[in-house]
Amino acid sequence: MPESNIFENVSTPWLTPFYTHLQDAYHQGRFAHGLLFTGSSGIGKYKLARQLAQYLLCSNKQHNDACFECHSCQLFSANNHLDFNLLEAEKNKSIGIDQIRLLTDKLNERPQLGNNKVVLIKGADQLTEAAANALLKTLEEPQGDSYLILLTRTHHQLMPTLLSRLQQTHLHSPDDQTLIDWLYQFGFQVSDVGVLRWFQNSPLALLNHLKALQEDASLDTRRQCIEGLFSLLYEPINLFSFAQLLVKDVEQNLLLLFHLLHDLHKLKLNGNQLDPDAIYYFALPQLKIWQTQLSLKSLRLLSDEILKNRSLLMGHSALKKELLVNALLIKIKNEFKEITVC
Ligand SMILES: [Zn+2]
Repeated sequence: MPESNIFENVSTPWLTPFYTHLQDAYHQGRFAHGLLFTGSSGIGKYKLARQLAQYLLCSNKQHNDACFECHSCQLFSANNHLDFNLLEAEKNKSIGIDQIRLLTDKLNERPQLGNNKVVLIKGADQLTEAAANALLKTLEEPQGDSYLILLTRTHHQLMPTLLSRLQQTHLHSPDDQTLIDWLYQFGFQVSDVGVLRWFQNSPLALLNHLKALQEDASLDTRRQCIEGLFSLLYEPINLFSFAQLLVKDVEQNLLLLFHLLHDLHKLKLNGNQLDPDAIYYFALPQLKIWQTQLSLKSLRLLSDEILKNRSLLMGHSALKKELLVNALLIKIKNEFKEITVC
């Protein structure tokens, strides 16, 4: 299943007020032809845009959503709607003028099914200048009931002329309690604010992460984290191989390291007991030893360090990431007490 569709049926209550607002605007004839949704990856931009597109195309619009039953809705759900076009930037590739021309030609044709046509562009920051200009022309002379929805993380890389033609909305993450309640519906009890912070603006990424942990998708990496920490403490020469492992998928792997400290924290607070559903339960005997070598203060300090490094690492080169992770590992090592070198 393409990544974009994983969350097709997952509710995103934090976006509902905005979706309702868009429908109201449509009914009142205040709906813009060009829309731009910005927000972190995992906030639900794509899901919202598809929902809106389906609504615009539905031939039997309901009070607060598409009908999900009409011919148009059925074609849309089957990814087979002729009046809906999706353009997605390929990884590290730009969206060129030829791709945009193909789309704008389609927008200029009469709709095949109902009255409306929708074009959705994912990764709009990848538009080349020429492509953005071609798009601009369409926005200046919108043809009938055609709608353009652009998605990107931030608006900074879009041309000001294009921006000025779009109605921009930045999508925000829910507050902690809404997020906790939402996750609870899927059977996840997240009490750790650190984990919420990690995914602060990406609820769908957090859900994905929790599901992966539940399905043991990360078990190999978690084992490697235990082995890596073991080497770090007892065979210091291996510091670099552990750092390299973490850097491979630094955001995900640092989070797994964060979870490791969190389980040590739980052990310390709960009289050396750990829930069998704890993420590092499989390594309990080792954790019981480690928790005696770290104070609560050290655990908190290191957890904060990992969170801090996460934001520092974003956008850095691989080499810089490795240096930062090395420094972090040295800090972790230094917080452990009375390690006997074998
Ligand atoms: Zn419908």
